[in-house]
Amino acid sequence: MVDNFGRAITYLRVSVTDRCDFRCVYCMAEDMTFLPKKDLLSIEELERLCDAFIEKGVRKLRLTGGEPLVRKGIMTLVESLGRHLRSGALEELTLTTNGSQLSKYAAELAAHGVKRINVSVDTLDDAKFRQITRWGELAKVKEGIRAAQAAGLAIKINAVALKGVNDAEIPEMIRWAHGEGMDLTLIETMPLGDIDGDRTDQYLPLSVVRANLMDQFTLEDIPYKTGGPARYVRIKETGGRLGFITPLTHNFCESCNRVRLTCTGTLFMCLGQEDAADLRAPLRASEGNDLLNAAIDEAISRKPKGHDFIIDRRHNKPAVARHMSVTGG
Ligand code: SAM
Repeated sequence: MVDNFGRAITYLRVSVTDRCDFRCVYCMAEDMTFLPKKDLLSIEELERLCDAFIEKGVRKLRLTGGEPLVRKGIMTLVESLGRHLRSGALEELTLTTNGSQLSKYAAELAAHGVKRINVSVDTLDDAKFRQITRWGELAKVKEGIRAAQAAGLAIKINAVALKGVNDAEIPEMIRWAHGEGMDLTLIETMPLGDIDGDRTDQYLPLSVVRANLMDQFTLEDIPYKTGGPARYVRIKETGGRLGFITPLTHNFCESCNRVRLTCTGTLFMCLGQEDAADLRAPLRASEGNDLLNAAIDEAISRKPKGHDFIIDRRHNKPAVARHMSVTGG
């Protein structure tokens, strides 16, 4: 699959549910209305869609959400996708999780061929963790991380940089993650969906974070890539890797290799644009994949050049109405 800007689409992110057991303040409103269960694709339908994308050249697949590990039957999907790892059709199967269910699922994930996962942790302070996630418990997440490490999974911690919330803690988070043998990636908050607060107050440009880190660490640019948008440095003092995902301060759309499928079968060709394609109707219209493949090709031909996120006082509205939990972060 190659789009009109010559970018090969080899990375599919699948939001398997819009539901989550946390309510992170920058991601969701507290009283979210979720999709009725009847609108969701079944696990078998998700499987069929993923298979079609893999047949069309997807080499890396990430399960996300909402919280992927709260979707009923998720391990059936992981197991089924694992066969593509064994055949060599898929290079990597991975997931992004809040870690709350990892103690339960880590060993099974590893057994089905998952090698690396991302766990979202924005703070190491128990009370602040509860404030940010509204419903989460840091101790449980840490227990999940230990279970994942014991199962042999490599872990990257993702932290959204939030002004006045976790900015002072970033050096400590670097030392913690690297001390535990994990990579850490910082993410700029993106204007997706209405939340209860004001994003302008939370927005922290990573260019500022990077400059501040240089007061106490030596940052060496490295060419390391995981197939995602992060740019990495090695921190000389810890020996670990630190990634920066900068959708606002440094746009990375020219190298975008991914599309995003929601749990209702809607394909978003860009996280930051409204345009989408319905794949559920062609999926359900026939048992063969001709209609589905045609719909995928048509959607890829519409992949836009990029997003245009801005966060400041004059642009204090979401760039798109849907929350990250719908498209899958
Ligand atoms: N529940 C899983 C988790 O917590 O990792 C997967 C889904 S969550 C939407 C994926 C990632 O998106 C998390 O790291 C979360 O912090 C991030 N995220 C959510 N809303 C965001 C926003 N508006 N801007 C930047 N990152 C966001």
